[in-house]
Amino acid sequence: MSKVALITSITGQDGSYLAELLLKKGYTVHGINRHIPLSARQHTEFIDDGFSIHSPGFYLHEEDLADTSSLNDLLARLAPDEIYNLGGLRHTAERHRHHSSYTEADISALRFLEAIRSQGLEQKTRYYHASPAELCGLVNGMTINEMVTSTLCPPETVALICDFWTVVNYRKTFGIYACNGILFNHESPRRSEHFVTRKISMGLANITQGLEQCLYLGNLNALRDWGHAKDYVKMQWSMLQQDEPEDFVIATGVQYTVRQFVTFAALELGIKLRFVGKGTEEKGVIAAIISPIAAALKVGDVVVAVDPRYIRPAEKCKVSANPTKARRKLGWGPETSLQDLVIEMVQADLASAKEMARLKLYG
Ligand code: GDP
Repeated sequence: MSKVALITSITGQDGSYLAELLLKKGYTVHGINRHIPLSARQHTEFIDDGFSIHSPGFYLHEEDLADTSSLNDLLARLAPDEIYNLGGLRHTAERHRHHSSYTEADISALRFLEAIRSQGLEQKTRYYHASPAELCGLVNGMTINEMVTSTLCPPETVALICDFWTVVNYRKTFGIYACNGILFNHESPRRSEHFVTRKISMGLANITQGLEQCLYLGNLNALRDWGHAKDYVKMQWSMLQQDEPEDFVIATGVQYTVRQFVTFAALELGIKLRFVGKGTEEKGVIAAIISPIAAALKVGDVVVAVDPRYIRPAEKCKVSANPTKARRKLGWGPETSLQDLVIEMVQADLASAKEMARLKLYG
């Protein structure tokens, strides 16, 4: 009998990579999303290493997680061995803007854990909860490990903290195998362009093909710890395979600035950049063209500029991660370097940009 897994937010980056991983391991995978319009199926169509959304063993469900009775019905029908709740994660800037509606939508751990109890699945179903690093109420200079919890509690993180402690409490009180995974930024060609890495790979690729002229960004000094989503979903799975349930921080432990990410992405496209000016006047200027990919551009072109609209007020830019526990207990180590991640993202966006430029030329 194959194991049965239930994954929320199946159409997102992590959901699609995790589904691929579990299908390869022989699981039956049920993916849920509140709405699955055809256009939103794009990521699940990435399930293409021999699998597709039509593969045997892969099922899509359109469910509203806020509806307790349909969640109970689903658990009663599927009796999953593992639940991966990836659904609470939203883009940071969005969460700041609309935190009351996200607070309501985010509190899903309680609904899942209660459904596990009410279906009598406490001894069978293991539960993974995706908790973003912001739940710790980030403080500049802080290093996050599993011990750091709520030093501050900004309003937009209330739901995240509630979910985090619900998972801990159900583990301790009801003996359910439930874990929080605190995953730092993890990217890929499937990342939405709301995130800076994808915005950069897409923007610069478009510039080389004449589709855009300049990439406008916010704080170029912001530091982030970026890994590859494909590596991180392996740890989500691994957290549910231990003898005892625990919470884990997953990160590379190494930070880069947004400016460095831009520099690496530009180099992959054959552009050597020079940054001039300070603050909102800073510009990325082409210092040399080193590959035919960027042949349409010329030395001196300004291809990166700062737009103050993208600068987040009171952002915590210097928060680092300590993934020692995951290294020790899960054997965690990132398989993909930042440079390889950049290459993969840029090459995927370059292929799309070339196709778009070709269609524009003939269309
Ligand atoms: P986050 O860590 O979840 O907020 O992921 P993002 O990819 O959205 O942001 C990563 C960092 O890049 C943050 O420090 C942002 O302030 C910074 N950043 C700089 N310019 C931009 C931009 O144009 N868009 C976004 N999304 N982030 C930017």
